[in-house]
Amino acid sequence: LNVLLLGSGGREHAMAWSIARSDKLDTLYIAPGNPGTAQLGENVDLSLSDFQAILRFVEEQGIDLTVVGPEQPLVNGITDFLEDNGHKVFGPSKKAAQLEGSKKFANEFMKENHIPTADFDTYRQDEFDKALSVIKKRDIYPVVLKADGLAGGKGVFICETEEEVEKRLRELKENARFGEAAETLVVEEFMKGDEASVFVISDGKTAKIIHYAQDHKRIGEGDTGLNTGGMGAYAPTPVLGSRMLQRIEKEIILPTISAMLLDDNPYKGILYCGLMITTEGPKVVEYNCRFGDPECQAILPSLESDLLDLMEAAASEELDQKNVKVDNRYRCCVVLASEGYPLDYVKGKEITGIEDVSDDALVFHAGTRRENGKILTDGGRVMNVVGGGETLPEAIKNTYREVKKINFGNKYFRSDIGAKGLAYIE
Ligand code: ATP
Repeated sequence: LNVLLLGSGGREHAMAWSIARSDKLDTLYIAPGNPGTAQLGENVDLSLSDFQAILRFVEEQGIDLTVVGPEQPLVNGITDFLEDNGHKVFGPSKKAAQLEGSKKFANEFMKENHIPTADFDTYRQDEFDKALSVIKKRDIYPVVLKADGLAGGKGVFICETEEEVEKRLRELKENARFGEAAETLVVEEFMKGDEASVFVISDGKTAKIIHYAQDHKRIGEGDTGLNTGGMGAYAPTPVLGSRMLQRIEKEIILPTISAMLLDDNPYKGILYCGLMITTEGPKVVEYNCRFGDPECQAILPSLESDLLDLMEAAASEELDQKNVKVDNRYRCCVVLASEGYPLDYVKGKEITGIEDVSDDALVFHAGTRRENGKILTDGGRVMNVVGGGETLPEAIKNTYREVKKINFGNKYFRSDIGAKGLAYIE
């Protein structure tokens, strides 16, 4: 198969690494890719918002399957566009991607189909005063405010006080950064528990769990400070035992896939279920319509099945004939970031030591570029180091040993990735 993979982050480097191992692969193109993906296939300079250029490339190169990494092109309808032109795509349609693209859509869908999630209300921007008075009257904190649309993880506020609610509502209304995303507000009940993410592959009718992980979204140790795209992950997480996974499959995954099908909105692609394991059972925090970054980097090294084969089967509605197999090792992924991220940071620092990393570990590039034979930092999240082990403590130890070997001027990382899992085991 000739494959075009869209995206350029650590997630896409991990996907490219996994696809490149497939016997089914002829040629792999990555658009736009990064210096890491360039070692596995051919990087192509295409903009993910220029659908016509992507279509031209697919037709000229005889691409058999386009695989979409990030959410934005999916929410913008890249799948529908390529499929309407007769090409196979792995990733949900624009309508199905609304599970991620609109929190209002997702919450209403879950309510209608009795899929457990937080209680919620929605308000248009001209009703924010009403939202405030309802929150004041209810007087239960924390309360969660969310911009309806995609805001790169920056449109969610967990408010502890009435004053904070007022401040955040003002921000959502006035800050141009949110744009259309904040035209609708979702107010949610705060759910207490342990978070975990389950990754599912579906062809619209059949769904199979690939693996499950725990992410670390905050910039600071002990889950403090600002939210980021994700500072590390590990898999599998002890938060989900086999009985809990069965419940998640029965109460969340299967009802989601079958309700989408019944709504004439079949879900094909990766479905990421962000969950809170509460005392009442598992509840959905969010759906994402693609792999998580960095969870993907911690999960794919464990996948023994052929990822390309699974994705092709999903795109062809033949997933029922496939099995998903993962090994029984633990994997830990630590993100190396530029100091200052998620706010301002300096780019262009030389990265050294990549070649010293042991063969047992993997390095996935994210915000890097190659210049005059050197690899330089080129983003907030720069690189991912993934190590493995028979146990979680061993996987963590093996990862941090490699993390030390890679250096750049303003390197920052969290030194407690996986600690939540260890605490849970204890
Ligand atoms: P992402 O960047 O992962 O796409 P997002 O903008 O879609 O984030 P959510 O995942 O909905 O936002 O929320 C971000 C984080 O806020 C969650 O991972 C969770 O920790 C917390 N959170 C969101 N909703 C709730 C809730 N109802 N109760 C408790 N915590 C919540």
